[in-house]
Amino acid sequence: WHASHFRRRVVSLRATRAEAPSSVPPPPVGGGKAAAAVQAEIVEAAAVWCAAHGLVVGDRENPRSGTVPGVGLVHAPFSLLPTRFPASFWKQACELAPIFNELVDRVSLDGEFLQGSLSRTKQVDDFTARLLEIHAKMMAVNKKEDIRLGLHRSDYMLDSETNSLLQIELNTISTSFPGLGSLVSKLHRTLLNQYREVLGLDSERIPPNHATAQFAEALGKAWAEYNNDSAVVMMVVQPEERNMYDQFWLINHLKESHGVTTIRKSLAQVEAEGQVLADGTLVVDGRPVAVVYFRAGYAPNDYPSEVEWSARVLIEQSSAIKCPSISYHLVGTKKIQQELAKPSVLERFLDNKEDIAKLRKSFAGLWSLDNEEIVKSAIEKPDLFVLKPQREGGGNNVYGHDLRETLIRLQNEQGEALAAYILMQRIFPRASPTHLVQGGVCFEDLTISELGIFGAYLRNKDKVIINDQSGYLMRTKVSSSNEGGVAAGFAVLDSILLT
Ligand code: ADP
Ligand code: MG
Ligand code: MG
Repeated sequence: WHASHFRRRVVSLRATRAEAPSSVPPPPVGGGKAAAAVQAEIVEAAAVWCAAHGLVVGDRENPRSGTVPGVGLVHAPFSLLPTRFPASFWKQACELAPIFNELVDRVSLDGEFLQGSLSRTKQVDDFTARLLEIHAKMMAVNKKEDIRLGLHRSDYMLDSETNSLLQIELNTISTSFPGLGSLVSKLHRTLLNQYREVLGLDSERIPPNHATAQFAEALGKAWAEYNNDSAVVMMVVQPEERNMYDQFWLINHLKESHGVTTIRKSLAQVEAEGQVLADGTLVVDGRPVAVVYFRAGYAPNDYPSEVEWSARVLIEQSSAIKCPSISYHLVGTKKIQQELAKPSVLERFLDNKEDIAKLRKSFAGLWSLDNEEIVKSAIEKPDLFVLKPQREGGGNNVYGHDLRETLIRLQNEQGEALAAYILMQRIFPRASPTHLVQGGVCFEDLTISELGIFGAYLRNKDKVIINDQSGYLMRTKVSSSNEGGVAAGFAVLDSILLT
């Protein structure tokens, strides 16, 4: 949790808030001391609920919290009450999930498109180049993935300028918080019921959130398609992971509801303990692996040496189901997002005109930096744009003054330096005051929110087994902060109250 990203304005429990605008739930009724006491009580009840129900993360303060389960736990950062969200936009976002799932699948099959679109990026971005190299290797041996599993999350913000729902990005690798996301919805429902008298909010207006169960079901069904009873699911994880409880929620669900065992391994462990048998079976630590589920491997830091890259190649060469495959991974890059937003490109991959129109309506302005006009506009008005490299995990984008400086520098560098980035229209969600709880302390600040819709997709050859919207995750951050990652320490977990 970076203190610098939150103005640490601890709300004095005596101070009552100014009347909240209609965009947030009203604070507890009653004046002065009474309201403050109720609020303190709700904060405590919420923190207790988190501890008792596993809505927890490893505590930064404890050095063992990222490696030893059960040690150094703290409640996940959360917003005290759900954020209001218009039902019409909620419905729109849910409807998009299966269409994006299908789009990812179709695009993943077009290796030439992926290689072509990323060919210039490759020259200046070593990480993307390494991923493309693996992809090219698989194309060269005509590797086919008959069983394809996608566990995605498409993120949106409501743009106040245009009053529309616009996509921020589509994550196809290591989409986090299905576990804790479901729990936050439960926490909020519990609080609304428990404090119904004072809050006056209907818990039924928080949509059900079964992300854990649905992702576990997708993993379980994928495992079943692989059809080897002795095989396991292998979750590829970072050696240190403070968000491990989000992962354990899935692991436990998979075991309890589907009888499937999961092993957690780092890429280095996969390299040391893994092999691919002559028939393509991936064996790690003596166990055949049916499904490889990546909760690591999306960032350069996950590949500190050649060892990790060897592991990634080993996995890709095997017959295990990869979530994601290298193709699915590449479809989720910012560059591909920008290419798909170009005129006539969606039509190459989808047939249904209505579906195409729905997707396009959610696209913000996206540009490649070989568009000189746009680069010029962005230098003139940097606040209207976001500059994005091909990275995941938050904290990588460039804004405002830095955006202008970076563009000018890259232009002067000549060559292909600009090709490492894309430009995106900056989205301006309306800010509203929210109570954020972190480390047992409640703050009030102006916040903006980003709604992530989980999507699960599973197919075996021509048979589509799952194509669903699979729960959601609201993330709320202080409006003065540009980035939005919860794990990165910029945002809190939240849910929604439909209006
Ligand atoms: P990452 O893959 O690192 O999560 P994102 O594209 O989601 O990359 O960007 C990180 C964060 O930056 C988002 O969660 C959001 O808060 C902010 N952001 C990204 N794109 C925009 C945009 N077009 N307008 C406003 N904020 C944005
Ligand atoms: Mg991302
Ligand atoms: Mg993101």
